[in-house]
Amino acid sequence: MSKVENIDCLIIGSGPAGYTAAIYAARADMNPVMYQGLQPGGQLTTTNEVENFPGYPDGVTGPEMMIELQKQAERFDTDVRSGFISKVDFSGPVHKCWAEDGTEIHAKTVIISTGAAAMYLGLESEQKYLKMGGGVSACAVCDGFFYKNQETVIVGAGDTACEEAHYLSKLCSKVTMIVRRDEFRASKIMEDRVRNTPNIEILVNTETVEVLGDDMGVTGARVINNKTKETMDIPCTGFFVAIGHKPNTDIFKDYINLDETGYIKYEKPGTSLTNVPGVFVSGDAADHVYRQAVTAAGTGCMAALDAERYLSALEG
Ligand code: NDP
Repeated sequence: MSKVENIDCLIIGSGPAGYTAAIYAARADMNPVMYQGLQPGGQLTTTNEVENFPGYPDGVTGPEMMIELQKQAERFDTDVRSGFISKVDFSGPVHKCWAEDGTEIHAKTVIISTGAAAMYLGLESEQKYLKMGGGVSACAVCDGFFYKNQETVIVGAGDTACEEAHYLSKLCSKVTMIVRRDEFRASKIMEDRVRNTPNIEILVNTETVEVLGDDMGVTGARVINNKTKETMDIPCTGFFVAIGHKPNTDIFKDYINLDETGYIKYEKPGTSLTNVPGVFVSGDAADHVYRQAVTAAGTGCMAALDAERYLSALEG
């Protein structure tokens, strides 16, 4: 028989947004329960070195940082659970959520911090170097610095790919953009910006066949022109993938307003409110622009403060 737990605050997801929300909620005596989700620690656990999170002058690895955040959340008695929430019902004043083990939770407030997942090409070689932290990345702002004065490749032709190619062009000696059609998906202004940057070369009608490398990491990319079927090897030490992200919001779609690409829409800009009273959002589940650990942490704080205010008003 499934058991029902009545709680004040449920946090779904365990990236920087979720843990920051947990630290604030726990310190406000909301006794938060956190379900870590399928990827405990979130996207940062796939990152090697994090050098841009304030407070770590010597850098820190993504997994280490997430362990520290978990410890900090548990220090204030957050109930951190492995497992994931598989179903929700936000139709009533009490928010019903079900964990995959059958536990039914009735929460007065819910903080969604389920994040987003970067999409990858799915090539075996790409996944190999991604896992070994050896030159494959889906975040130029996070990892571009490691390729200073080196040659990089970036796949994609949307706004993100253009923005990241431009960012890389300022650090790297050369950036090659691999575009699978003969046109960009990006806005004209972003496309023009990369076209007008001297050290960005654009290869259209081109797809990646293999990420090349050795024991140390990536050394190049083998690409094919899908019209002429010609292949060529492009030397590079960094292989960036910018073909989109998928927010982890499927289970909320019957209740929470999402935009056309699945990101949660804020009910009121400058807050963490969703369209459902008592349900708040933080981190990449609602952010397709900044996507940084530090911005996710900031919105996690906002969500906990908004949830606390909501609870206080509820309790009169
Ligand atoms: P998009 O979905 O807009 O673009 C994805 C790009 O990747 C397309 O060029 C697509 O090609 C390509 N692509 C997809 N799959 C593959 C594949 N398997 N192999 C090779 N190429 C592939 O994603 P973005 O992340 O760029 O943008 C998401 C949203 O965020 C957009 O609405 C964008 O406008 C917005 N955004 C806005 C910014 C801003 O305004 N400053 C900055 C960043 C994002 P194809 O076109 O052929 O499908």
